[in-house]
Amino acid sequence: MREQTSLSEQTIFRNAKLADGSLADFFVTGGRFRAIAPAGKAPPADFAAVAPGIVPAIIDLGGQLVVPAFVEGHIHLDTSFYGDAWRPHIPCTNGFDVRERVAFQAQNLAAAAPMAERAKNQLELCVGNGSLAMRSHVMVDASVGLSHVETILAVREKYRDLIDIQLVAFPQSGILSSPGTAELLDEAMKLGCDLVGGLDPASFDRDVNGHLDVVFALAQKHGAGIDIHLHDGGALGLFQVEEIAARTRVLGMAGRVAVSHAYGLGDIPADALAKAGTMLAAAGVAIMTNAPGNHAFPPVAALRQAGVTVFSGSDNIRDSWWPYGDGDMLNRANMIGYRSGFYEDRELEAAFDVVTHAGARALGLADHGIAVGASADFVAMPARHVPEAVVAVPKDRTVYRRGRAVARDGKVLAR
Ligand SMILES: [Zn+2]
Repeated sequence: MREQTSLSEQTIFRNAKLADGSLADFFVTGGRFRAIAPAGKAPPADFAAVAPGIVPAIIDLGGQLVVPAFVEGHIHLDTSFYGDAWRPHIPCTNGFDVRERVAFQAQNLAAAAPMAERAKNQLELCVGNGSLAMRSHVMVDASVGLSHVETILAVREKYRDLIDIQLVAFPQSGILSSPGTAELLDEAMKLGCDLVGGLDPASFDRDVNGHLDVVFALAQKHGAGIDIHLHDGGALGLFQVEEIAARTRVLGMAGRVAVSHAYGLGDIPADALAKAGTMLAAAGVAIMTNAPGNHAFPPVAALRQAGVTVFSGSDNIRDSWWPYGDGDMLNRANMIGYRSGFYEDRELEAAFDVVTHAGARALGLADHGIAVGASADFVAMPARHVPEAVVAVPKDRTVYRRGRAVARDGKVLAR
């Protein structure tokens, strides 16, 4: 276990290129930005006073672009085979079917390396690429019970110093159609999950109100947030988005509810989308999209314009759903921009915002960003500015956690 950053530890980072093009120096104490000043200035007077007699370490960032650590807003640490044997994708027998995919997943998992090992591989992949905050869904159902949650909670504890992880108790096999799941979700929240999950209330459980009653009641009981997987398209998807927004509003849960995928928002007419955007923004419901390659997905620019927090994640990496995914949220910003037809600098910056500041907002991370008082979690890379980083996706990055280098060139440094 890496020792915690001591409160008196001080580092000066010289010559950081900020997003606005200026060069800055960071004065970091105890893992937090104590001051951020134009490059070349002397340390602020109180910087020295924190730990008299201690000489701060100096790291020259050499004019590299320095950005906030990325936010991996949607991943599945328990079901990935990353680092394990290759599992060829098994196609559904008669078109995409969530139940059939869950069955393939159970088959694959039975033959996989231990979960803690696979989760660690995936987690280090993400940290190596610069994500230092993450939201992982963890499967809870009658067949696996709480075993996934228990394992991933232990992994989170082990990596607490390296990355902040929120866990969603995820009813992978539905709630009403998998008896006992509501009770298991309750237990998962008691064990330490942070959010209550959900899964296609209409198409999976075929009871929108019944499913959402359980999800929202558990969230209220535990004072927790909500993040619901919603794959249903078109009007059916839109209807559920509206129901979730309405409940969020009534219960005063603004800023604590997210809908993941929300494919339906990607295939409805513009006027319906505008209405949905206004409703989501007013209710404070965030939308997660990974900009899937073969699917309609929520229009990022239109939703942002309406004031909706749009964030992103890798979702599945080398698992039973698809073989893709690289755990790199900068590459994800590239995909979002590519799939959205973003060309202008301001659009590329928007794609970047989705994987940084908007992600932090969706996850409720008060400590995020390059700002005085925030945790000194940042990524340095060879790029002239954010738009160039989004299109070029430079891989030779250094990742700093609480003011210390924790990963370089995609690899987590020795612990
Ligand atoms: Zn997912």
